[in-house]
Amino acid sequence: MPSDSFNNSNAPVPEPDIGRVVGTAIYARQSRVRGIAYSSCQSQIDMCRQLAASKDWSITHVFSDERYSSETIDRPQLSQLIASIESGEVRRLIVYSIDRLTRRMLHFQQLLELFARREVSLTVVNDPSFSDSVTGRLMANIIAAANEFQLDLTKERMADMRAVYKRDGKRVAGRVPFGYCTDPATKQLVVNEEQACRVHDFFALAAGGSRPSDLVGLANLQRWPDQNGETCKWTARRILKLLNNRVYIGEIPNGSSTLPGAHQAIVSVSVFNKVQELLASRRTTETKPRRKTDPSYFVHSHLSGKLICGQCNRPMSTSISHRGPKRYIYYRCRSDSGGTPRCTGVNIGVFRLEQLVASVLADVDDSKSELPIAMREQWDKLDERQRQKRLPQTIQRIVYTHCTGDVTIEINPEVIAEYDLNESQTEGENRDLGSSK
Ligand SMILES: [Zn+2]
Repeated sequence: MPSDSFNNSNAPVPEPDIGRVVGTAIYARQSRVRGIAYSSCQSQIDMCRQLAASKDWSITHVFSDERYSSETIDRPQLSQLIASIESGEVRRLIVYSIDRLTRRMLHFQQLLELFARREVSLTVVNDPSFSDSVTGRLMANIIAAANEFQLDLTKERMADMRAVYKRDGKRVAGRVPFGYCTDPATKQLVVNEEQACRVHDFFALAAGGSRPSDLVGLANLQRWPDQNGETCKWTARRILKLLNNRVYIGEIPNGSSTLPGAHQAIVSVSVFNKVQELLASRRTTETKPRRKTDPSYFVHSHLSGKLICGQCNRPMSTSISHRGPKRYIYYRCRSDSGGTPRCTGVNIGVFRLEQLVASVLADVDDSKSELPIAMREQWDKLDERQRQKRLPQTIQRIVYTHCTGDVTIEINPEVIAEYDLNESQTEGENRDLGSSK
C-alpha cells in the first residue's frame, strides 16, 4: 500500500494499474491534523483500500484534503476529484463516511447530482446502504429528499423570520396603510408626512363627533388624495377601516390581534380609544332596529309573487322607505303591466300582512274556518320566525283590496291535502282500533 499517495497533496497519484475500465478513486478529508488517529486521512484511505480489495477493485486515484472544513466545497483535492469525474476518468468513488465529502445538504446534493450525471457509483465504508447495486435508486431518493429538505428549511426559515420580524414589531407584508410609505431598503413603515396629517385630521374630527360620512364629504370636497394619489375616492367604508386600524397607534397586525410595532405612531392612544368609543356607541344605537327581534330584519318578501292587488288584479311588490334610521317595508301596487297605471296609495306593511295571514292560519278558535284544525293547531304552536319561514310554501295566493281592507287567502292545495290525509288516516286508525275491541 503506497503511503506516498497521501503525502503528495497537490495532485492525485495514479495507481500502477490505471488501464482498467473503471477508474476508482478514494476521497479523504480531515478538518484538523491533530486528533484521533482513527479519523486521520491516512486511516480513512486505509479503510477504503481494504474495502476496495474485498471487492477486487483497483484504486486508480487517491484524493485527500487535510485541514479543510466540511463547510466549504472549495477544497483543492475535491476540485481535482470533481474534474476527474467530469472528464470520465473516475467512475467509482470510495469514501470512509459521507460527511467526508460534505456536511452541507446543498453541497451534498450538488455532488450527488454530479455523480448521477456522470454515472459514478459511490461507496461509503461506514454505511453499507450505499452499496453499489442500489446506488442509483438511493441517489435519486437522496436528491429528492434533499430537495424537499432544502425547501422545508427555506419555509421554516421564512416562518422563523416572520415570527422574529413580528416579535420585533417589524412589518412583514401586506398593503401599506394610508399615512405611511415603506423604506426601500428595509421595507419597513415610514411616516408619510403629508398623509399622516390627513390621518391625524380624520382622527381628530372623528374624536370630536364627526361621522365617517362627514369625513368622506370633507376629504372628497378638499380633494385629499388617497394612497394611490387619487382624489374623490374616499368612502365611508374606507374611512371606517382607517379609523379602526391600530397601525396608527404603532401596533402591527398579528393574526386576529396586534403586537407593538417598530414604526412611528401617528395617532395617540387616547384619541384612538375615544374614536373607538364613539364608533361603538353609534353601532349599538343605530343598528338596533336591525336586531333579530325586529321583524324587518327577516327576509321581507315571504309573500312576494303571491300577493295580488284586488283593485287591478296585478302582483304587488315590496318597497322600502326610510325615516331616519328606521326602515319601513311595504307591499305596493307598482305594476305597469297591461298599460294601466299603477294604483296610487295601495300599500300594506309587510310585517302587518304577514302577521295577519299567520294569525288566520293559527286561529284554532274559529269554528267557521275552512282550514283543517290540525293545521291551525300546528301553526298555533309555531313562533313568529317559523311562521314566516313556512308562509311561502303554505300560501298559494293572497288578494289584498286596499279600498275595503279585505284580504283573501288561498292556501296551497297540496298542504291542505296533506293535513286532510293525516286526519283521515288518524280516523281510520281509530276505527280499526275500535273494531278490534
Ligand atoms: Zn293595483
